[in-house]
Amino acid sequence: MARPSRARIDLDALRHNYRFARQLHGGRALAVLKANAYGHGAVRCAQALAGIADGFAVAFTDEAVALRAAGVTAPILVLEGAFDADDLANIQAHGLWTAVHQEAQLQLIEQSAQADGLHVWLKADSGMRRVGFALADIAAAHARLVASGKASRITLMTHFARADEPDQDTTARQIAAFDAATAGLPGERSVSNSAGVLGWADARRDWARPGILLYGADPMPEPVHGLQAVMTLESQVFAVRTLQPGDALGYGGRFVAEHPVRIGLVAVGYADGYPRIAPTGTPVTVDGRPSRLVGRVSMDMLTVDLSALPETGIGSRVELWGKQVSVNDVARAAGTLSYELLCNVKRVPLVYEGADAP
Ligand SMILES: *Cc1c(COP(=O)(O)O)cnc(C)c1O
Repeated sequence: MARPSRARIDLDALRHNYRFARQLHGGRALAVLKANAYGHGAVRCAQALAGIADGFAVAFTDEAVALRAAGVTAPILVLEGAFDADDLANIQAHGLWTAVHQEAQLQLIEQSAQADGLHVWLKADSGMRRVGFALADIAAAHARLVASGKASRITLMTHFARADEPDQDTTARQIAAFDAATAGLPGERSVSNSAGVLGWADARRDWARPGILLYGADPMPEPVHGLQAVMTLESQVFAVRTLQPGDALGYGGRFVAEHPVRIGLVAVGYADGYPRIAPTGTPVTVDGRPSRLVGRVSMDMLTVDLSALPETGIGSRVELWGKQVSVNDVARAAGTLSYELLCNVKRVPLVYEGADAP
């Protein structure tokens, strides 16, 4: 038998989370599948949402072209838009929707011979200060797109910097500034990422753009939303040993046993995307019961504490995150976000479950 490590992907949970988000937000929702659907497999996730999702969004054209090549016919928005004229030609050729967030992209469209009938998502910077037209320039950019004759449809969008912080007024100010600057311009609106959908009732517009929530990782500080974890990263104990007081475990010998400690070895490591920086105490479950990581994470294995679980042993199931262990809790322990953990998953097979899997 090969090593028993895998990432199970629950497609029913993905569909549940999408429907939940669209219901909560109202209007329509683009399921964000960038970065290989946050590590979950973009093609399989798009197929699972076919006929359910109003459309998809990815960061870059090549991600969208890969979905088209796999037979995905639904609308796909390229969130970063065209990088050059060839990129724009590809967007046109594959019938993609494209963001336009800066002057150079506006010029690409104005100067393109082929561009025609584009659905442009014109992006305004309402306060994040990363990409997007300044609010003072958004009406002029809109007018130039219309004048180019190359856009058949223009949706106005913006992106939130701090929607996952309910006690900050940044989001309310972004919404108000965006609304004021775009008042009177025709076209639909899209402002909400996952945190906007979950945390900000006044951020509901024509289109939501949920990403992380689709995968069941609630970005709000106090999740109350009933999302279902989609990925379960799991393996089994493949060896057991008992440390004696004074024994130092693993690289660096950072974990020193103070009393006898029964250790289980698990064939998952940082080469699979489990964070090397996760400290002793990071939660895991073993045969469904809470336990903890001990010692340093290696490339190909990690060590868990079986001391309080005498009935566990070789073959016991270990969950690193998923339905029992919140990926948010692992991320917090490792000083990062669920986003980074999920999209770093590699080397382990993705095993699809739910209606219409494998
Ligand atoms: C990634 C992204 C999203 C989705 O964000 P989540 O926080 O994962 O919901 C939405 N809009 C834009 C522009 C993005 O880049």
